[in-house]
Amino acid sequence: MKIICIGRNYADHAKELNNAVPTSPLFFLKPDTSLLRNNAPFFIPNHSNDVHHELELVIKINRLGKHIEERFAHKYYSEMTMGLDFTARDVQQNCKKNGLPWEIAKAFDGSAPLGKFVSAEPLKNGDLKFELLKNGNLQQSGDTRDMIFSIHQIISYISKFMTLKIGDLIYTGTPAGVSKVEKGDILVGKLDRQELLSCKVL
Ligand code: MG
Repeated sequence: MKIICIGRNYADHAKELNNAVPTSPLFFLKPDTSLLRNNAPFFIPNHSNDVHHELELVIKINRLGKHIEERFAHKYYSEMTMGLDFTARDVQQNCKKNGLPWEIAKAFDGSAPLGKFVSAEPLKNGDLKFELLKNGNLQQSGDTRDMIFSIHQIISYISKFMTLKIGDLIYTGTPAGVSKVEKGDILVGKLDRQELLSCKVL
């Protein structure tokens, strides 16, 4: 399986990092060794002094697909959850400045905590709100209606380049409010007011 992450899919987050709002979806990959399941703790890696949380809606692909048309994209997922796209921001800024790939900033071990899956039917029926609580305080709040590219546009776009397979995960981008994590932080991800993810930073 592969993990596909969309970058800059909420205008307010692109703005907070001084990035241009993209005209087509931007995506990158993480390996399966990035995943943290069952609320496992996250260990800050030694190679960064500025790891940020990015709370994202995640969907799981449930059938094989290539060149999927937008109008059929809803048939390719049935479950969703909350995930974190941990980012070594200092390393990423350096990669960007030097035109280098992002893997050491984005794809390190444990960089993709994944919550408990629930049915994606509510998402197919309307927009959903989600939020990240950091040590009990609201830190990020998102609404899927603010996505620059919809879930269906994303699925269609990715599948032009890569075959989507059962079990593949798509992290759909983060809203504003990203911040540095410190040892001892507790991050909780809620979707539609339901707690689906909890991650302790060590
Ligand atoms: Mg992200």
